[in-house]
Amino acid sequence: PVPNAQIALSELPLRPELVGEEPYGAPQIDVPVCLNTNENPYPPSPRVRAQMSAAIDKATRSINRYPDRDAVDLRADLAKYLGFGLTADNIWAANGSNEVMTHVLGAFGGPGRTVLTFTPTYSMYPEYARNTHTGFVTVPRKADYTLDAALVLDAIEQNRPDLVLITTPNNPTGTTTAVKVIEEICENTRALVIVDEAYQEFAEFPDDSALALLPRFGRLIVSRTMSKAFALAGGRVGYLAAAPAVVAACRIVRLPYHLSAQTQTIARVALANRAEMLAQVAALREACQHLQEWLRRVGLQVIPSQSNFCLFGRFTDRHAVWQALLDRGVLIRETGPDGFLRVCVGTPPELAAFREALTCVLDDPG
Ligand code: PMP
Repeated sequence: PVPNAQIALSELPLRPELVGEEPYGAPQIDVPVCLNTNENPYPPSPRVRAQMSAAIDKATRSINRYPDRDAVDLRADLAKYLGFGLTADNIWAANGSNEVMTHVLGAFGGPGRTVLTFTPTYSMYPEYARNTHTGFVTVPRKADYTLDAALVLDAIEQNRPDLVLITTPNNPTGTTTAVKVIEEICENTRALVIVDEAYQEFAEFPDDSALALLPRFGRLIVSRTMSKAFALAGGRVGYLAAAPAVVAACRIVRLPYHLSAQTQTIARVALANRAEMLAQVAALREACQHLQEWLRRVGLQVIPSQSNFCLFGRFTDRHAVWQALLDRGVLIRETGPDGFLRVCVGTPPELAAFREALTCVLDDPG
């Protein structure tokens, strides 16, 4: 018997706004082909893994001590990786960009403040807002799921947000927002502009990044992650680049020692081996384009994506299609606009399994 299993959540004094809420997360189902969380499907090589193990072994010699609270060496490595003249003082890091965003909203959101985003977009944003007591406002993207400055500036004027959150390439649509659009937005608002570039390395022009605008805009924050292109989702490292004052604000709200010694160690080894960690990115980008072409060829609608995933449809019963794929051992994601499903790029055999399963499902919709 499980101790205290008889007490129900409804009997506990849960915060009222959390009543009825479900924990976020894509289903973690043990199936042969997982194409549902936009990861890089390639694990590190034995050589890099050996380096990670050796570095962890070294780090455990002082594991009785707290880790570097400000993760200075890691932040310096991240700055070097990003380039654009950034230094450790411009970088903040945390356990995934999820936590980075929680720090940003913890510092700059809160009661009476609002964050504005453009839907459809990443489904965690409302949760960051809820957890930090920040108001959450959404405005729909254009019909093709892109954004232009007029739409964003109009939404800002209507809603007067304190923070504006733009995702490029956007999840789940894969659509991008050009730097010149971000620039025009920054030129015309006093709100903090957060650009979530979690998938930037997969974009057709990865250097066309809002990072280039940082020297001009003190209220611009660019968020990145090691979870996607960098093939380190299990390591849990996200980071932002911004003015040092933004970093100072994040340091106020973070928990002390939030980034474990193991996390900092693994991330630094990954960054030291960046060429190898990122070696598959070009192939994944290309595979994503081929996958989109294939989906169109079999008669489906595909939102043009510049990431490692794409949305396709339109199905009258997308859940039935999702389930039929799962029954064939292929897990994708039921998310995005009505009737669409999202698939991310895996290895060639995984993609072959996806195409084969989807072909069966389309041939025999049951
Ligand atoms: N931003 C976007 C747009 C995402 O899709 C994701 C992950 N799905 C994240 C942030 C969070 O990634 P992580 O916390 O692993 O860095």
